[in-house]
Amino acid sequence: MDTGGPISTRDNIQGESFRDRMATIDEKGKRNWVYAQRPNGKFYSIRSYVSWVFFVIFFSLPFVNVNGRPLFLFNIPEAKFIIFGHVFWPQDFFIFGLTMITFIVFIILFTAAFGRLFCGWVCPQTIFMEMLFRKLEYLIEGDAAAQKILKRSAWTTNKIFKKTSKHVAFFLLSFVIANFFLSYIIGINQLEKIISEPISEHLGGLTSILIFSGVFYGVYAFFREQACTVVCPYGRLQGVLLDRNSMIVAYDYKRGEPRGKFKKNPAGETGDCIDCFQCVKVCPTSIDIRNGTQMECVGCTACIDACDKMMKGVNRPAGLIRYASENGIANGEKLRYTGRMKFYTTLLILLTGLLTILLLSRKDVDGTVIRTAGMLYQECGTDSVSNLYNIKIINKTIADIPLTIRLESTPGRIIEAEGRSISVPKEGQGKGSFFIVLPNNIITERKLKLKLGLYEGNKRITTLKTNFMGPIYRPGQGGKPTGKGNEH
Ligand code: SF4
Ligand code: SF4
Repeated sequence: MDTGGPISTRDNIQGESFRDRMATIDEKGKRNWVYAQRPNGKFYSIRSYVSWVFFVIFFSLPFVNVNGRPLFLFNIPEAKFIIFGHVFWPQDFFIFGLTMITFIVFIILFTAAFGRLFCGWVCPQTIFMEMLFRKLEYLIEGDAAAQKILKRSAWTTNKIFKKTSKHVAFFLLSFVIANFFLSYIIGINQLEKIISEPISEHLGGLTSILIFSGVFYGVYAFFREQACTVVCPYGRLQGVLLDRNSMIVAYDYKRGEPRGKFKKNPAGETGDCIDCFQCVKVCPTSIDIRNGTQMECVGCTACIDACDKMMKGVNRPAGLIRYASENGIANGEKLRYTGRMKFYTTLLILLTGLLTILLLSRKDVDGTVIRTAGMLYQECGTDSVSNLYNIKIINKTIADIPLTIRLESTPGRIIEAEGRSISVPKEGQGKGSFFIVLPNNIITERKLKLKLGLYEGNKRITTLKTNFMGPIYRPGQGGKPTGKGNEH
């Protein structure tokens, strides 16, 4: 399935201009299992090193704490996120939303410039699949040819042993990954409790681990490349994100065509492609990169390594398949910083600036005060009016804070309906209700704007705004307020 449009080169090549199904699905709609040959070459070596860095980061980050907090936590059930040691709550949703928008713009810019570099080099799915599970599979079952033979062979002791070993190893690895994955959601301390305390106390946590393990095992043992070619939304967006100037893994059809077998064709009569199919045999998504940029290409560079090796073997220059843009291949142009990229860069700088301002002005203690729903005001004797309020406070610090509320810049009193101060636990929420009582003579509008200060001792932590509803005081009417309320 070509992405079509401007970046497809397939029309140029030997009349194979269209494919109406996934490379991994046959004409009857059945799955073509991919037996990818083990890549070997410069890019594969570098990718292996990158994967080791990734594994070190992935398996060590949950243990890193900053000021008693994990460096990263994505606690979706409790809607609590910790990023670089800073806690974000639902009240920070605008920061979260803006971060998402900034991230999407970054993805668009990055993809417009560098194609699927992310997928091939640092996407966790690719790294776990190609650098962990696939390597383990090569170790147990052998390279692609041996795997095919094993698949077709009868169920001998050898086959049962190899298949069982592989699936047990795959499940154990998935179990380990699931544990670490969960630690990014609930934190490593909670995970340790699930592991060390009686199962009956953590049935939910244990169930989550087993579900995650099952999903990872299913993905890496069976679903595999389909995660990239069928499920991943980023992969499916490539057709609109890439253009003729994007850097992609590309076949140089100008140099390679007309392709022909090396031995049969003397030099000069054919292009540099010797039609050895090595680039196809190593491809984890089973596509032929010579047919142009395709949705299934994850940019893994395995075909570059395979082709460079063949070129070396026939004494031709490397780079028949290489990182290049479509314009680079067609017209010999160098990679360019295009107007589209400049636009996205400007947008990204603006969004990042705005995000920085929001992050810097973010409060450690924040809250909301609203008048209790369904209640008007209450008259307190003949000279005052009260309103009932609910307050919700978020404490993003790592210390418990007892808070008191004071009316700022308005004469009046606060009567606490529940307790004398509101205790807000560290990284938690506190709530309460209270009355504000104002003298009639200061109620000059139906909705009077009030400022409330939240104090820890005598230190003001933050200021909140709310409205006070009451009858408007009219001195000309003998000092009596007008309007209806309840007696308090
Ligand atoms: S075409 Fe090449 S870069 Fe793309 S997925 Fe296949 S081997 Fe990897
Ligand atoms: S590996 Fe290179 S030479 Fe061989 S078929 Fe692919 S593009 Fe042609």
